[in-house]
This record gives sequence, C-alpha cells and structure tokens, in this order.
Amino acid sequence: MTAASAAGYGKQTAGDESEHLPGLSMHFIYESAPARVVFFAGALSQLPAEVERLGRRALILSTPGHRQLADDVARSLGARSAGVFAGAMMHVPIQTAQAGRLAARDLKADCLVAIGGGSTTGLAKAIALELELPILAVPTTYAGSELTAIWGLTENSRKRTGVDPRVRPKTVLYDPELTAGLPFALSLTSAINAVAHCVEALYAQQANPALAAIAEEGIRLIAASLPILALKGVDPTARERLLCGAWLGGIALDGGGGALHHKLCHTLGGSFNLPHAETHTVVLPHALAYNAPAVPEAIARIGRALESNAPAGALYDLIAKLGGPTSLRELGMRAEDLEPAVELALQNPYYNPRPITRDGVRALLQAAFEGRRPTAT
Ligand code: NAD
Repeated sequence: MTAASAAGYGKQTAGDESEHLPGLSMHFIYESAPARVVFFAGALSQLPAEVERLGRRALILSTPGHRQLADDVARSLGARSAGVFAGAMMHVPIQTAQAGRLAARDLKADCLVAIGGGSTTGLAKAIALELELPILAVPTTYAGSELTAIWGLTENSRKRTGVDPRVRPKTVLYDPELTAGLPFALSLTSAINAVAHCVEALYAQQANPALAAIAEEGIRLIAASLPILALKGVDPTARERLLCGAWLGGIALDGGGGALHHKLCHTLGGSFNLPHAETHTVVLPHALAYNAPAVPEAIARIGRALESNAPAGALYDLIAKLGGPTSLRELGMRAEDLEPAVELALQNPYYNPRPITRDGVRALLQAAFEGRRPTAT
C-alpha cells in the first residue's frame, strides 16, 4: 500500500478498508463554470429582471410548438424584447442556425433567451458561437444542455459538436411550472437522459467527490419522482424534483463528461437518426451493466440512489414499468445497422473505465437492440 492510498487518497477498489465510503476517488482536475441559476415554481416572472442583467434587447428563441409561449415572454419583456425566432429544430440544422443568426443581427439583439428543450438551447448556442451573445436559458425538458459549453450543428446529415465557453448560458431560469405540460412519455425519456449524465459522471475521467454527491442526488430525485408522476399524472412536487434532478444532471455532464454510454448515444443518434432522449433511455441500463465490473464505487452510489444492489437491472425495470422504450428496434433501428454502429463506436478512442472491445460493444448493442434486461448487475 502506498502512503497516498494509506491516507485514503488513491482510487479505491472493492476490498479496500474504505469500501464503505464509495466515490472518494481523490485524483482529479475540476473547473466549475459560473452560471447564475434561478430555480422556483413561477420563476418565469423573474425573466425581465434577469434579462436586464444581460442586455437591453433579447431575441426570444423557441420551437414552432412553443411559439405562443415565446410571444407571451416577448410581451412580458416589453421594450427589452427584440423579437421572436420560433424556428428551433432537433439537432440544429445549419440552415436554422444561419436563419437565427440573421434574425439576431437584423433585430439588433444583444442577448438571447432560449425557452424550450435541448434543441432550442442548441439553437441559442449556435447563434452565440458566431455572434458571441450571452444566453439566458429557460429549460422546459430535462436535457441539461443549459449547463454545458457543448454545441452541435448538423450539416449534410452529419452532426458536428464542439466545446466553446462562449456558448455556455450565463443564466439559467428553471421554472417547474413550465414542465407541467410535458407529456409523460417525454418526461420519462428526458429524465432518463439526465440520469445518464449523472451515471456517467460517477465514472467519467473527471469524476470527483463533489460531482459524485451531485450525481447520486440527481439519480435519487429522478428515480423517486418518476413513479409518482406516472401515478398522479399531475404533481407539482414531482415536477420540481425532476427539474432539480435535471439541473444536477447538467452539472454532472458539464463537470464530469461522459464515457461509453454518451459515445454510443451520440453515434446512434447522429448516424441512424434515432431520437435523442429515447436512445439514452434504451442504452443506459446496458452501458451501465457493461461498465459495472470496473466501477464498484459508482455502482454503490447508483445502487443507493435506486435502492437496489443491482442498479442496471433496476434501471431497466423502472423504465419498463413506466412504459418507456427498452429496445433500439422499437426506436426504428434495423438489424443491419448493428455492425456499422459497432464500427463507429470503436472509432476515435475515448475514455471508458472498462476497456472497450469489439465483442463487448457488439453484445451490448445486440442486447439493447432486442431490449433484453441486463442481468449482470
Ligand atoms: P427537444 O428540445 O427537441 O424537445 C423535444 C420535444 O418536446 C419538442 O417537440 C419540444 O417542442 C417539446 N417540448 C419541450 N418542452 C416541452 C414542454 N415543457 N411541454 C411540452 N412539450 C415540450 O428535446 P431535448 O431532449 O430537450 O433535447 C435534445 C437535443 O438537445 C438533442 O439535439 C441533443 O443533442 C441536445 N443536447 C445537447 C446537450 C449539450 O450539452 N450540448 C445536452 C443534452 C442534449
């Protein structure tokens, strides 16, 4: 035993005398990014004051489906609204980004308000990438993009992503009331997307004790709230907790980053046009089962949060019981896409706690394709 591990500073493995303190890997570099977070039911009422902190003329961004909400928000801003651009679309097509940039220039906007899910936040980021306008994000799903400096743009059916501090929202206004109408099926898959951020932050390269505590709490909040929402249909407390879990998931994603699961979902979404949150929902139990043997500390934390000593199976059961998707086949993937997906997943090596093998990824994707319950953990 080294002096460092004797003092409790090494990566601990099962069998350590400190086994009862999971997640205390004390070898990390952590840069926590500043973001002003305003969180409460009814927080949308604070939007004018929050916009005032960032600029004088805000361009309001939304999807076409949220046009009415965007118009209402613009009205509430009065002279501080430069106008509404309600053209946000999934995966940020370059044409949409260009149209948004043009609108921001024409309307002389000096800040952006993105009200919607990850697609709308993504549009704001694409505009900010070129125009360097500060973003105020008002998330209405649990995707977590509002806490990261990651942008994405789709051109000629290929999604490029990058990291740029200029696209990180300066302010995030979380109003659980805005999520009241998010259909349950979408709430479930979006929330599992947030759970995925938490799960991978527990074993990502930049994992650290602060992120571990955040991630564990995020999983706990979401896993406890989803069944209540499913049962009651409407439940303001469950909505608050889910959105709070999403916030924690965003912090986890931003600080910890991802591993095999995020790589697989990015590949499947980008190359086979599978829907984002649903793909996360199907793949997560399998990616967790794959990594489980290599990450006992993370498994202990996830198990505590899910109240199970077999968390991959428990996660699958939670999703299945609540009617979520469990197979890639039902999302529209074809059997002949499996081999190309394995190839893509093996390209450009990236960090993962358990070595990535062709057979391992093939078996993982096959199980996810068929929707088999993971049995290992
Ligand atoms: P989304 O933004 O596409 O929204 C999904 C659907 O839900 C849309 O039709 C939207 O109009 C609707 N919707 C949103 N909020 C609603 C509400 N409160 N009530 C009713 N309907 C509502 O989906 P998403 O899952 O939030 O985001 C997915 C996108 O975000 C993907 O493109 C993904 O790559 C990106 N993303 C990026 C990051 C990052 O860090 N850059 C992180 C997570 C996700």
